[in-house]
Amino acid sequence: MEKKVNKYTVIKVVCQIISLILIPGLFVDSFNGIKAFIDAIRLGDYASLPLTLLPTVLLIVVSAIFGRFFCGYMCSFGAIQDFFHYLGSKIFKHRIKRMPEKVDHYIKYLKYVVLVTILIMWCFGVSLPEFMDPWTAFGSIIAWNITSPTTVSLDLAYTFTNLWLGTSIMLLIFIFSIFVDRFFCRYLCPMGAIFTLVSKFRLFKIKKDREVCGACRLCTSTCKMGIPLYQYDEVNSGECIDCMKCVHVCVKDNAKCELVNKSAPEAIAAIAAAVTIGLYYVGNLSVNTILTNQNNITEVVEIGSTSTINKYIDGTYTGSGTGYHNATTTVSVTISNDKITSITTVSTGDVAQYYNRAFSTITSEIISSQSTSVNKVSGATFSSNGIISAVNDALSQALRS
Ligand code: SF4
Ligand code: SF4
Repeated sequence: MEKKVNKYTVIKVVCQIISLILIPGLFVDSFNGIKAFIDAIRLGDYASLPLTLLPTVLLIVVSAIFGRFFCGYMCSFGAIQDFFHYLGSKIFKHRIKRMPEKVDHYIKYLKYVVLVTILIMWCFGVSLPEFMDPWTAFGSIIAWNITSPTTVSLDLAYTFTNLWLGTSIMLLIFIFSIFVDRFFCRYLCPMGAIFTLVSKFRLFKIKKDREVCGACRLCTSTCKMGIPLYQYDEVNSGECIDCMKCVHVCVKDNAKCELVNKSAPEAIAAIAAAVTIGLYYVGNLSVNTILTNQNNITEVVEIGSTSTINKYIDGTYTGSGTGYHNATTTVSVTISNDKITSITTVSTGDVAQYYNRAFSTITSEIISSQSTSVNKVSGATFSSNGIISAVNDALSQALRS
């Protein structure tokens, strides 16, 4: 029988709620860091890479030490699954208590298939279309803005029409998570796959002496990630999300936390989460300021030869488009020798967090390809749309009649 509400469970839920409010898009941001890395190599543009990669590197380093604590304490997608699973425990009496061990073991490999597929697509410059991306759908519903937490976007009409497939997949994931704890995290999440790999050799572990255990297997049946704890004296699995349920449920106080083989407090994963939330929040505000300054600097690309197509009239044109939260973005586009040579922001009401991330990638790609048919920045698709449509608007004025 599980003990009454443990104070560390309360701390975990508080961390999840704070993360959901302050940094709901961090799991997308961290995954996009990988895409930014691939794009930088693909396009040979490393200018904004260090800043974009920051959350990814921070989380990977801390996960290598403490394990998949991000998933347990900080991921908004994980938190919502926890909420649905809790709801299910109150509504449905007969649920799958535990997936059959072999089935669980093999379907867990699916997330690596998802990860490798996405990485291959990114290597070829292909992104998941936004209408079928469940994370984009989730982001469009839960859109608290880090720089203005009171701003909430609830453009449900857009979410259920333009993003219909992603929204349907997202809803299916939440429905499945009612019945199988952390369904998406166990079987499908590509970021979870990365965290599983990097936390395989974590220094923070849960240890339990099997000889003391007896046959109760309470920890195994409670584990949120379906880890067969009864088989181990220490949890080496990269799947462990540091939820501490196995520690709390043990009636013999046999499951204990260790850091580098020394006894460690249970609160350590929560402390790691709190420090990372703080670092990310403060760091992200600074990054946004730097990116805003960078974006205000005119981006000029020298294009050598004179065009023979003669499509545009040289000059500087201003165009507007609608970005995130229906905000208007206005850009200035300079045409020289029939080429787009510079794109700068005139003004934008878009959310800085997303706009800044999209701007340099989108404008670099437009200038290098001389086309507005470029990939949107995943996780900042609405801001990308605003920038692209603003450039298109400016270009329409530059066209020779
Ligand atoms: S596995 Fe993915 S969705 Fe689940 S908590 Fe981790 S990052 Fe979030
Ligand atoms: S129950 Fe224990 S082993 Fe399972 S995920 Fe939570 S902390 Fe890790």
